[in-house]
Amino acid sequence: MTIKMIDQIIAYNKTFVAQKGYEKYLTDKYPDKRLAVLSCMDTRLTELLPAALGLRNGDAKIIKNAGGLVISPFDSAMRSLIVAIYELGVDEIMVVAHSHCGACHMSYDHFHHLMLERGITDHTLDTIRRCGIDLDQWLEGFKDTPQSVRHTVKTIKTHPLVPADVVVRGFIIDSTTGQLEEVIPTLAEYSFTRLCFKADVIEPLSDTDFFAVHTPEGTFKMAKADFYRVFNNVVKTKSYQQDGIYHYSATPAKALPFLGK
Ligand SMILES: [Zn+2]
Repeated sequence: MTIKMIDQIIAYNKTFVAQKGYEKYLTDKYPDKRLAVLSCMDTRLTELLPAALGLRNGDAKIIKNAGGLVISPFDSAMRSLIVAIYELGVDEIMVVAHSHCGACHMSYDHFHHLMLERGITDHTLDTIRRCGIDLDQWLEGFKDTPQSVRHTVKTIKTHPLVPADVVVRGFIIDSTTGQLEEVIPTLAEYSFTRLCFKADVIEPLSDTDFFAVHTPEGTFKMAKADFYRVFNNVVKTKSYQQDGIYHYSATPAKALPFLGK
């Protein structure tokens, strides 16, 4: 009979403890960096994620699930984050999705097929549905990774039980190189035929909030603080102050660094 993986692990564990393999991991339950990381269970990230973030044992609370998602404000991931904040002193949260995630494009239909093959019956599935469980939603993945990260960040940030001073930022990590790319939250956006600034959209934002202006030329995206820094002349104009809108007839060179496709 072949030895099952778990039995092999149990045997390894005995040696690990006997040889005091744990000594270099000694720490306590409080995260030294006051950080929580919500990420995906993908095996490519098991060692890569902490290595690429420079995290050692004891540094951060790492919460993982399929996709690194908060799927509803009172799900298990969110519960863990709340515990991390109140009980363990976490004041910064990183949501870290990754490239080529298996949870991308997941769907109930796909699982339904596999479940039937493994002996689960439609009767069982119907019973679950009758209990009010929306299996389609529960097993649904996401189509667009940045969009999904933004959604999870927003759910955490706007959660009624998350204190306002907790920092929440979203990222996508490259599953091969470990390179982190920040997913900039866009809190406000509007479309116009050319670059323009609308006071009623921009002014309610906080300095670090981003807004996006969609134009035929592309999308200009910047934080309110950038707007105040780079376009300070615009802020002071009569049209922005009084009419609430300022538009450029031609895009100024200083706006180009904010232009994405
Ligand atoms: Zn994944």
